[in-house]
Amino acid sequence: MEPRSAAAAGRDFPYTAGTTCYIEVHEDGRVTHGDSRAGYERAVAGKSRLFAVWPGQWSSDLFLIDDLDEYAKAHGIKHDQDRTGLSEHVHDVEWTEEVAYNTNPRSPYISIRLTMKCGCEIRNLDTFAKQMREQQGWSVATSVGWGSSSGPEGTSYSLRVRRKSLRA
Ligand SMILES: [Zn+2]
Repeated sequence: MEPRSAAAAGRDFPYTAGTTCYIEVHEDGRVTHGDSRAGYERAVAGKSRLFAVWPGQWSSDLFLIDDLDEYAKAHGIKHDQDRTGLSEHVHDVEWTEEVAYNTNPRSPYISIRLTMKCGCEIRNLDTFAKQMREQQGWSVATSVGWGSSSGPEGTSYSLRVRRKSLRA
């Protein structure tokens, strides 16, 4: 079976779909599976090649991961401004507590409404949470719902953040 090119599909390639399985063919012919950072680094170093199996209904397609940059961005190994909406800089944020939502004084998390003064957009909460942890020590809850709303003053976001990690 001749592998197809993942690069040819561009950003539409389902790099992070749950049905996409990765296999790594090592220099010595060994075949392992997984999509780890280590596998990416070996592929960049030319020590292995990464393939993806994309299961179809009747047959599976085999793709060579020939755009490792796109692969790394999709998996968060490399920062991707387009996918995340977030620049790699110290964000300028403004936030207020959403008092009406914070009815349980014992909850370690509080709801806040946040605006991005720096012009970034939050398209990927995991990336934003990681950046804010590094920049301001925030613990943003990433396993609960969050939302955004747009108005005349721009977009604001509803997030849950660990109370003790917020600076007053
Ligand atoms: Zn920013």
